[in-house]
Amino acid sequence: MFKYKKRLGQNFLIDKNFVYKAVEEADINKDDIVLEIGLGKGVLTEELAKRAKEVYVLEIDKSLEVYANELLNKYNNINIIWQDALKVDLNKIDFNKVVANLPYQISSPITFKLLERGFDLAVLMYQLEFANRLIAKEGSKEYGRLTVSLKALADAEIICKVPPSAFYPKPKVWSALVKIKPHNRYKIINRKFFNDLVRAAFQHRNKSLKKALILSCREFNLNKDKIREILNKFLEENVEFKDILERKVFMVSVDDYVNLSNHLYKYFEDE
Ligand code: SAM
Repeated sequence: MFKYKKRLGQNFLIDKNFVYKAVEEADINKDDIVLEIGLGKGVLTEELAKRAKEVYVLEIDKSLEVYANELLNKYNNINIIWQDALKVDLNKIDFNKVVANLPYQISSPITFKLLERGFDLAVLMYQLEFANRLIAKEGSKEYGRLTVSLKALADAEIICKVPPSAFYPKPKVWSALVKIKPHNRYKIINRKFFNDLVRAAFQHRNKSLKKALILSCREFNLNKDKIREILNKFLEENVEFKDILERKVFMVSVDDYVNLSNHLYKYFEDE
């Protein structure tokens, strides 16, 4: 008897409607090489294998091998990689789409790891609360560092909400299928500075952006006086950013964070 491991996020899909929905929304065809994270008993893997050219599956739990073997006997386009998805070098796997019912405890790091690697399209199952944070609008309570970091790189939309009854064992909370499509809308000149800026800002989401950056001075390895000095000099020379820096952190749009980052990073580089 297979023993479900909560710490590995093992809530397997049992309602096939959501399996079909994920595959359909990912628009899988015989040109696609699909990456799946988390084999489980292979319910999603099988539908992917029927439609895709090739399927790669990352799975950490070797006790699922019996289910893997059943699939491997039936399909010759499935490749199982028994490794931690967070530790694998994704550049060594050739894929263009990602479809997965993600283990929820790795939602954030795996999403950014995938975005770093790049792909055409992903359809991913997240906890609903997490999905709402991904798609949030500025000014809402869900809007945060996660939203800005994601939207700077990709468009995301919720395809459908998924009830706990769609899984076994039943999770306590609702889930959602989310479609993610990377875009090149923004040219972020200094990605590290952008990440530091957004992290520093959202440590004080209800403060003005200027105040938040001063309070989070450690994120830039500077003291408060130095940051204040840099921001004042920046504002003297770039008065058009006054309004953004005076706005509350959670009211500043993704466009504005990118724009600010692209102008402000030079002022920090000199320090
Ligand atoms: N795809 C299956 C389904 O829909 O029924 C399983 C989904 S289940 C939510 C998540 C799967 O990811 C589990 O099989 C679990 O063992 C696996 N997993 C958990 N952490 C992992 C990690 N770090 N790397 C790879 N697989 C992981």
